[in-house]
Amino acid sequence: MVNVCDIQVMKPLLENNGFHFSKAKGQNFLIASWVPERIAREAGVDEGAGVLEIGPGVGPLTQQLCLRAGKVCAVELDRRLKPILDVTVGEFDNLDILWEDVLKLDVARLVEQRFSGLRPMACANLPYYITSPIVAALLESECFDSITVMVQKEVAQRMAAAPGTGDYGAFSVLCQYYARPELLFDVPPHCFLPQPKVMSSVVCLKVRREKEWGIEDPELFFRVVRGSFLQRRKKLSNGLRAAFPELGREGPAQVILEAGLEENVRGETLGIPEFARIADAIRQRL
Ligand code: SAM
Repeated sequence: MVNVCDIQVMKPLLENNGFHFSKAKGQNFLIASWVPERIAREAGVDEGAGVLEIGPGVGPLTQQLCLRAGKVCAVELDRRLKPILDVTVGEFDNLDILWEDVLKLDVARLVEQRFSGLRPMACANLPYYITSPIVAALLESECFDSITVMVQKEVAQRMAAAPGTGDYGAFSVLCQYYARPELLFDVPPHCFLPQPKVMSSVVCLKVRREKEWGIEDPELFFRVVRGSFLQRRKKLSNGLRAAFPELGREGPAQVILEAGLEENVRGETLGIPEFARIADAIRQRL
């Protein structure tokens, strides 16, 4: 197997294929072999797993996934990587590569078509410029057992943040509604080529089978959540007034009381059960 993390091996392969890194595509490739090995191991990938990888790059994580999984499907936007991946992962017959933009893909359909009989997982060193939309799309597809991704450390902290902390926001609620985020380990900039300016972290989102909050209308729930973080450090009623003009002037304060909360509560201190109660109180009025 080609040692993809060895720069002496990879530099000629990249140069011979005229490859240069694209900042716009978030190309920071792993050059420390312990990292993809540890991601695949801690994600719990085994032969019962069907793994969707986003952005294989030159294939360091792809190799580790293919060595362990029943099936791997890797989605890569940059077709210039094809001749390189032919060399680095061409030997694996449990791998399919799709040359597409993951954000344009029907992920649930792909999982249904390609991972029949397997436990669907997602695993990736994500391009940083579109981390949040990709994580949201993977969670909202509701077809994975777990989603293990490397992201900027700051984003990983936001995913796992508790109510009332500075990192907590609408993205934390989205992640924690669909999954239980677990921070696995940090990866310093020198593990990548080119080096990013920030620390990275690997986070595992263990997808919830049951959502225990009895939320009747998830779309309304997320509208409440987004509205609640519109005006941080201000009263929740202000954000709700902006997000739900149809409630009128007094409506927001009333639904907050109906949800059993203090009238001057701030949105960033609330957890999912409280947002669920507010959404329920609003639903009774619309
Ligand atoms: N997995 C490789 C590694 O760990 O070295 C590469 C990771 S690099 C951070 C992100 C990869 O995602 C790049 O190969 C990039 O071309 C690819 N990518 C960027 N945007 C994408 C998109 N919208 N859909 C699919 N792949 C994308």
